[in-house]
Amino acid sequence: MLIDIIGDIHGCRKEWVALTEKLGYKWTDGLPVHPDGRKLGFVGDLTDRGPDSLGVINDVYHLFTHDAAYYVPGNHCNKLYRYLKGNNVKIIHGLETTVDELNRLDSDEKELITKKFIELYEKSPLYQVLDNGKLVIAHAGIRHKDIGKLSKQITTFVLYGDITGEINSKGLPVRRDWAREYNGDAWVVYGHTPVHQVRFKNQTVNIDTGAVFGNLLSALRYPEMEVVSIQSGMDFIEEKFRDFD
Ligand code: MN
Repeated sequence: MLIDIIGDIHGCRKEWVALTEKLGYKWTDGLPVHPDGRKLGFVGDLTDRGPDSLGVINDVYHLFTHDAAYYVPGNHCNKLYRYLKGNNVKIIHGLETTVDELNRLDSDEKELITKKFIELYEKSPLYQVLDNGKLVIAHAGIRHKDIGKLSKQITTFVLYGDITGEINSKGLPVRRDWAREYNGDAWVVYGHTPVHQVRFKNQTVNIDTGAVFGNLLSALRYPEMEVVSIQSGMDFIEEKFRDFD
């Protein structure tokens, strides 16, 4: 299988469109189509903080309905899902921008995009196991021993990473470097923790290069394992990056 896996987009639709073009896709009838029949993969966190979260939802939903994309939810997707289902969630950490976009729509448009996102979310697995088990896409990653399994703990890990419940000196949740101990044969492609450059560690690849924080939007070409990136037009916010060695 030929697939291009895209890092956390967070509403940076301009960068996402430019990245597909750099990857060789041509936009036809509102969808990026690759001449070699390549598909797209998404590590989740389509929305929040960037200027066009709803546009990104629309694109990914339409790719999904055309069997042209594999999507997994990120923690921001999970929160948006709970918000759209009527749960009482705090509208912070970027959700406020997506809610603003929704509130600018008329009620029919709002209902339609809500339906699309809920369908995309509910029809997608927590993580994708592809290419006969040789490729796993999981938002914040997954431990080797957990691939193929589901539990409450695995859900928390896949959405939030290897958190300890502690807060670091910058006020951010402590995340352990699970990729350092990863010893599986399957490639795990993930995002969630913004890094300055795509990070390869064991058989894992972090492709969240912090597009919404002004760095890069990146894709991994699989099985070639080539990285393709686009410079983001957002303001650069250095303190959002957390590189491990
Ligand atoms: Mn993210």
